Amino acid sequence: MVKKLWYSHQWIDDLDIKEVSKTLRSDFLTQGPAVEEFEKKIANYCGAKYAVAFSSATAALHGACFATGISRDDEVIVPTYTFVASANCVVYQGGTPVLCDVEEKTFNVDPKEIEKKITPHTKAVISVDFAGRPADYESVLKLVKEHNLTLIEDASQALGGTWNGKKIGSFADMTVFSFHPVKSITTGEGGMIVTNNKNFYEKLKIFRTHGIIKSGRDGPWHQEMVELGYNYRLSDIHASLGLSQLKKIKSFLARRRSIAQKYIDSLTRLEGITTPPPSSESAWHLFVILLKNSGSRKKIFEKMRGNGLLVQVHYLPVHLHPFYRKNYSYKKGDFPVAESLYMGAISVPLFPQMTDNDVNFVIKTIKSILL
Ligand SMILES: *Cc1c(COP(=O)(O)O)cnc(C)c1O
Repeated sequence: MVKKLWYSHQWIDDLDIKEVSKTLRSDFLTQGPAVEEFEKKIANYCGAKYAVAFSSATAALHGACFATGISRDDEVIVPTYTFVASANCVVYQGGTPVLCDVEEKTFNVDPKEIEKKITPHTKAVISVDFAGRPADYESVLKLVKEHNLTLIEDASQALGGTWNGKKIGSFADMTVFSFHPVKSITTGEGGMIVTNNKNFYEKLKIFRTHGIIKSGRDGPWHQEMVELGYNYRLSDIHASLGLSQLKKIKSFLARRRSIAQKYIDSLTRLEGITTPPPSSESAWHLFVILLKNSGSRKKIFEKMRGNGLLVQVHYLPVHLHPFYRKNYSYKKGDFPVAESLYMGAISVPLFPQMTDNDVNFVIKTIKSILL
């Protein structure tokens, strides 16, 4: 059987299956002791005080906007080079996502572009750690502090990464992780917010379960709904998979880094493409090569797929999606750096279970297609 070389892929082993089976035989299927333990372990891993698990990172991002107090008349600045969920969460709360351009070298938000978009209505910035690489937090943190904004870090792709030696999850107001199967570790579906802020923490917990609190006002049974919340709970089935996966994160990350370095060493001198700058701080969720001649991307993409590389393109910038064009009047030409990156980007296979042979096969195939 030919192994499928996905752009990213989960790695599930017998230990994972054993842990999930244990939960299936236990008293708790939905949110219970496994969720609590998973939250503690992730908070601990990131060096954050609090963690709140969600049914997905998308739900978690919604929670982060709720906890920030985003509502009508509020603006939130979001880089356009990301998955749509990073911006949609602002819309869910009735706020306005204000998109901005990114840096060519890292695909991450350009702090100078954030600054241009700040108005008296700006309440928060959602930064994205694209491909697992931390954004320029030196500048971003300074900006949000100066303008008294909340920093929500969409680190869906960056669990395990660091910035200036500090764990991702330890320095933003709220940091969001995803446990979708292509990310650092998986729970099937799932997400988490870590924070050091008790006020945010308490709001997030309420938001996750219908906005209901146990007040005990009329008696021990008494629960009442104080905010409009949702059912965004993670289940213990998912969390037990997460706990088992978290035990392996160190080796997963080491393998991702070593494959990325091998790609950089082998592909950097190839004419016609740019490879991402080396980084020992990135979680290396994606390895995105950039074609200098974007006119040939479709052909090259198809050739790669035809040769067994299940490549993908990340991402169509948010402002070019029909929903954002229609409702926010964005158009082609608004963010030239992001648009030019999008035109040439291809994410090539990178996941921890790849063997050295797989890695060499990818390198050989890319070389033969490009030469
Ligand atoms: C994966 C991802 C999300 C969404 O995560 P889900 O857990 O699938 O909801 C959001 N933002 C970014 C940047 C992502 O990569």
